[in-house]
Order: sequence, then C-alpha cells, then structure tokens
Amino acid sequence: MKQKKRIEDAIALATKAHEGQFRKSGDPYITHPLAVMKIVEDWGMDEDTIIAAVLHDTIEDTSITLQDIKDQFGEQVAFLVDGVTKLGSARSGMRDLDTYLPQTKSNLLRLLVATGADIRVLIIKLADRLHNLRTLSALPPDKQKKIAKESLEVFAPLADRLNMGRLRVEMADIAFSYVDPKRYEELRNLIEEYNASAEKTMQKIRKEVSEALGREKIKFQMSGRVKSVYSLHRKLAKHNQNMGEIYDLTALRIIVNDITDCYLALGVIHSLYMPMSGRIKDYIAMPKQNGYQSIHTTVITKDKRIVEFQIRTKEMHEYAERGLAASFYYNEQKLTENYKTGKIQHLPTNLLWITELQDTAAKLRAGKKVDIKKLRLNLFADKIFVYTPKGDIIDLPKGSLPLDFAYRLHSEIGEHVIGVKINGKISNLNTKLKHGDVVEIMTSKNKTAKASWFDKIFTTHAKQKLRAQLNNEK
Ligand code: MN
Repeated sequence: MKQKKRIEDAIALATKAHEGQFRKSGDPYITHPLAVMKIVEDWGMDEDTIIAAVLHDTIEDTSITLQDIKDQFGEQVAFLVDGVTKLGSARSGMRDLDTYLPQTKSNLLRLLVATGADIRVLIIKLADRLHNLRTLSALPPDKQKKIAKESLEVFAPLADRLNMGRLRVEMADIAFSYVDPKRYEELRNLIEEYNASAEKTMQKIRKEVSEALGREKIKFQMSGRVKSVYSLHRKLAKHNQNMGEIYDLTALRIIVNDITDCYLALGVIHSLYMPMSGRIKDYIAMPKQNGYQSIHTTVITKDKRIVEFQIRTKEMHEYAERGLAASFYYNEQKLTENYKTGKIQHLPTNLLWITELQDTAAKLRAGKKVDIKKLRLNLFADKIFVYTPKGDIIDLPKGSLPLDFAYRLHSEIGEHVIGVKINGKISNLNTKLKHGDVVEIMTSKNKTAKASWFDKIFTTHAKQKLRAQLNNEK
C-alpha cells in the first residue's frame, strides 16, 4: 500500500506542476509524463524509475526544484530526474547530431557517464522518446522530420544496443514513416500483400510443424513474426533492392522450454523441409553483441515457399523483446543472495560493464566514498573500445592483445586463430590493441590453441579459456 501511495503522490505533484500547460496536440501536458510512466511500468521497471518518469519534465518546465523532489521522494528519484534533465540539456547544447553522436555505439558509454552512469536514466529517456514519436503527428513537419531522423540515427540503435527489440521496431517504423512517407507506404503494402499471399501455405506449415513437434513431445509456442518496414528497407538497400535476396519476409517463431529443445526443434524442422545452405545461424552458441540469442534457419517448403524459423527459449525471447529492461526487472526481482554473490548474471558478459557502472553509481549514491573525478577517469583509463569489422564494439581492459579480443568474441574463434588484421593491416599477435582499432581475426579450422599463447594473452578470461582448451586436448 505504501508503495502505491508514493506513485500517487508523484502523479499528484506532476499534475499540479504542469497545470495550465498544453501539448501541441492540445492535450493537457500531464498526458505526456503519465504516458511515459505507463511505458516504463509496462517494461517492468522499479518504483523509483516509475516515479522519476512521471516527474521527468518537472525540473525543466515547472517551478518544482530538485530539492523538492529529493525531500518528497528521496535521493534515487531525484538522481534519476536530474539525469534525464541533464541528458536533455546536454543534447540541446550540441550544435548538431553529428557532434552529438558520431558513433552511436561508443556514445552509449559517453551518455552513461554523462548521466551519472545509471542505465535507468536512458530507459526513461527512451520511453520519453517513444511517446513523443507516438504523438509526432501534432508537430509541424520540419520538427517531425528532425525528431524522426534523430530517432532513426540515435535512439533506435540505442534500443538495439540494449537488445530492446520491440522498442527498436516500433521507434524505427514510426520514425521511418515520417522520414520517407512514400517509401514507408510502399514497403508496408508490399509486406501486407506478401503475407496475404502466403497465408494459406503458412497455415499448412504451422500445422505440419506443430504435429511434428508434438510427435517428439516438445512443448512449444508458435507465432508469426511480421517483418518491420524499416528493417526491410535496410535489407533492400544492402541487396541492391533485390527482393529475391530477402528470405525472412515470412518468419515463424518457436518458443520452447530449454536449449536442448531448441536444437531438437531445429532437427524436426530440417526433417520436414530442406534447409537453405549457409542460412542456419546459431546465435545461441554465438550470441549477437547485444546479447541476442536464438537459432535462425531458412527452409524451402514443399510448395517452394521460403520461410525463416526462429527458435529460442522463453528467457531468450523475453530478453530479445525487452532487452536491458528485462534484465533490470530480473535483477530487481532477484536482489537476493545469489545475485549479490554473482551467481546469477542476467546480462550477457559483453554488457556487464553496464552493471559495473551501475554498481559504482549505486555506491556513490549510497554515500560511500568514491572520488568521482578519479572514477570517471578510470572508467576510460582502464578500458579500450575496439570494433569488429562489422562495427560491433567490444570493450576490453587496457593492455589487451588480439587473442584477448578473439577469445572475447567466442572461445572457438580464439581456439583457431591464425592471425590478425588491425585496421586492415596484418599485425603481430603481440600488438597491444588501441582504442578505436578495427580488429579482424583470421581463423583456420585446422589450427588449434598452443601453450605458447599464454605469453600473448592479457585477460584472465582468455587465459581460462585457453587453459580449458589445452586440457581438453590431452
Ligand atoms: Mn518528456
């Protein structure tokens, strides 16, 4: 009961503060903070975030002060509202988008540091942006274009980086419909037509697959996945507008109980239909950089339809849809012994630095002594950010070498390294990686790990992997 009361109080305060203010649509201003609050609530965020969401525009637009918020709702809420406000002013102070985010990926860190390293600030900001996009029609056309463009270039990639799939799709599609309305309509119709023409076959396929999975006693849920307009646009651009190269217009998602069932289901599908060669992607064994996990396979059905299947567990699905917000929710739920002792890590290892940042930020807010200046320096000082040739960013401790990078990508990549290209040039495995390097690992299935590599490895993570591989060979 006491919890609900805090939220009600926040709503009352915000309502009073925004009284007499209106949005461009003519709606009372309070409809916006309330909608943002509802969004973070739906994402499963904690109470402080929900309260901060409803208060997020009060500092900037009303007479309420940070001290008022601190007095009534505590340090945490005040910290979050302050972060959202600062993020807003940091942005409007930038001359243009290019100086704001030259590379979205590395700027996630910059944004986090700018906001005091609390990911919840970004989550509120994303919810704020989502609602502004949903209500974009009320703004004049030039503003629409500007906000839409920024959303495509900054916020949708940010959502992707945090693996918030559902959010990314919604943001990108709304934004694209303003950036290029004609193309948007064209592609949307195309997807609709395609799906309509495929409907009969899809029903048949669903039935066949359901029965086959049932025979193997695999428990599952199956649903169709509609391709987003913007991702089709991007794919077509990549493939010279050739529709023949788009294999995932129709996709079916199969959600099963555990990883074993994922592979069993894959086998069942391949026994029914012919898999297309080179189109099986195992993101379970090798998750995407943002932590996304799933098995994708494209098959050709008996009546020559091309269908993509995406197979994953419930947890993977939840994480793919809600991403970091989902992890946050789990972490909130599981602030138990296991979590505290590090036995449960809901974030994929490549995103763990976010929790590190959060933990330090939490320490700071709890009044524990940390020299902020020193800390921020250190955050940058002992980490380097390097890129894969595809542009994924990998953070490594300073002093890391190519093999550390390889083992960080995947232990199997590490195991088969034959060489490395740094910024396009063949380089020595002893070369220390520098911030911003593009690192391409060359592998060969015939080569395996050597004991002499210990000298060419900096991180404990890679050493452990190498040790395990050497032991296995004996
Ligand atoms: Mn707002």
